[in-house]
Amino acid sequence: MSTWRRAALAMLIGLCPATAAPAFDALSPSLPTNYSPPDGDTEGGLWMASRQAEEEIAHSPRRIADAALETYLRDILCRLAPEYCSQIRVYVVRTPYFNASMMPNGAMQVWSGLLIRMRDEAQLAAVLGHEIGHFLRRHSLERARDLETKTSLLTLFTLGLGGAVAAGGVAPAVAQGASGGAQLAALGSLFAFSRDHEAQADKYGVQLMAKAGYDPAQAAAVWRNLVDEQNASGEKQDGSSYFFATHPDPASRLETLGGYARELGGQQTIDAGQAHARYFAAVGAHLPGFFADELHLSQPGRSEHLFKQLLDAKFAPGVVNYCLGEVSRKRDGGKLSDAALAYYQAALGYPDAPPEAHRAIGLWKLKAKQLDEARQHFTAYLEQAPQAGDRDMIDYYLGLTEKAP
Ligand SMILES: [Zn+2]
Repeated sequence: MSTWRRAALAMLIGLCPATAAPAFDALSPSLPTNYSPPDGDTEGGLWMASRQAEEEIAHSPRRIADAALETYLRDILCRLAPEYCSQIRVYVVRTPYFNASMMPNGAMQVWSGLLIRMRDEAQLAAVLGHEIGHFLRRHSLERARDLETKTSLLTLFTLGLGGAVAAGGVAPAVAQGASGGAQLAALGSLFAFSRDHEAQADKYGVQLMAKAGYDPAQAAAVWRNLVDEQNASGEKQDGSSYFFATHPDPASRLETLGGYARELGGQQTIDAGQAHARYFAAVGAHLPGFFADELHLSQPGRSEHLFKQLLDAKFAPGVVNYCLGEVSRKRDGGKLSDAALAYYQAALGYPDAPPEAHRAIGLWKLKAKQLDEARQHFTAYLEQAPQAGDRDMIDYYLGLTEKAP
């Protein structure tokens, strides 16, 4: 056999294992079950700080008093990490930004802005799985130890520089600038998990959700939605957004998550219909309030994208169409455009349409001098919202509709 043939054969043999399906290299927890650290050490200190923070969240006026919703979230976490169920507590906080975080002691907070960005329970499981990944791998502890090292380095550096100033007569302003810059850089790296930790939490999260029977492809879908929303907002991904500042590059992350999903697929026991129905049953009652918070942020590009996605996902279509009308109206400086009207009218095609859709259409019709229709809509609004705070104003408008044309 010629040398090149032997080489070719060896290469082929060498390539064989790579052509087989890649085995998923599963991660395991570093946190012992039913564990609590001794009081004196670094981890004990972290837990003490966590207990104080948890106490504050538990009594915060922004905590959503819905025990059923918190139990629903906790049940998902328990499905993801059954051995740690007794160590986990969940708090839902009304804040209109995308965030969830888990403290080292097992207390998790989930923000309402995250809940309106989930399409179903599988996507929620992906996010909760990521957070529980940080918890089970004790990333906070690793970060704290890293912080201790950095702090001592920083102290040495600052002292050293101070010494140089005294001895060599370096201009104090320059010295202060240098140490200030180093301090900022050190501080910036302290508050976020490292990209390695994020990548590990992603991997662990997908692993846990797949094992619990969810469609692992939904992990990538969550980040895809966020990237699309960010692009629709017209804002740059330059760190002004909390989310993109603290998480790995979205494009490579999506690719990695997609790869994990392909390796871990085939264990799904919760289908898309169930995942949607269960999620909507748990959060549906809160959606109008959460949507109102989103509208108050006055970020039409972002909101429009979000609400259109919710419409596609058949989430509370009456309320969502109404919100799209509101976004359109806000974008036009309060003017009721034909586009806004179309959304308000679409809202009325659904049983969950808010009474305010009638008010908005009434105003449009009044302006267009279509007085009969204006009267019908104002009347319907007051019938459906008898306690409306703007009743006097609507009565006044009703008077206008009665004038002879
Ligand atoms: Zn993370």
